[in-house]
Amino acid sequence: MSEERPNIQEIKLGDCPLCGGKNTLKALQYIHDIPYFGRVMESTIICEKCGYRSADVMILEEKEPKLYTVRVEDEKDLFTRVVRSKSGTIELEELGIKVEPGPASQGFVSNVEGVLERVRETLLMAKNFKEQENDSEAVKKIDELLKYIEDVRKGKKPLTVKIMDPFGNSALIGEKVKTRLLTKEEIKRLSKGPYVVIEPGKSEDKAS
Ligand SMILES: [Zn+2]
Repeated sequence: MSEERPNIQEIKLGDCPLCGGKNTLKALQYIHDIPYFGRVMESTIICEKCGYRSADVMILEEKEPKLYTVRVEDEKDLFTRVVRSKSGTIELEELGIKVEPGPASQGFVSNVEGVLERVRETLLMAKNFKEQENDSEAVKKIDELLKYIEDVRKGKKPLTVKIMDPFGNSALIGEKVKTRLLTKEEIKRLSKGPYVVIEPGKSEDKAS
């Protein structure tokens, strides 16, 4: 059974604030209707002139700051859906890898396999860099991580995947996924990327 082709909407946003292009900025939006979960809107802002691109996702239904966890143990689990907004933090426990929000972070709708591929590409870039620096210790460590990722992909090693989002725009979706609300303390500790949380009656200005 294949998913219905999403209805892509194009919205003209006018001039590009980065390159000054006249009417070159547009947004593409499409809504995924995910069974047993709800609607998720993916949007990408693109400048046709300078190539600027920024993607994010937003959960349109019930939105709560939650922690989602899935233990990936076989190849089937790799298909667990991952909705990651710009404010979402992904943790790959056994690898000791955390993908945190930052100015360059992008939102996406993918699956665990897709997340592993993104991490693999980042590790390969880091490896290249460390090789040029002759940092054999770091190269060895990266190779171990790459090997572990390969084993997870073959169902030979387990991986605990977590996603947390203070704004409730990120999620894991699949049969084995466990979820609970994030505590206030946990929300405080999370990096929030380009967003700022305003708590009424409290001035929290810890710039990072
Ligand atoms: Zn531009």
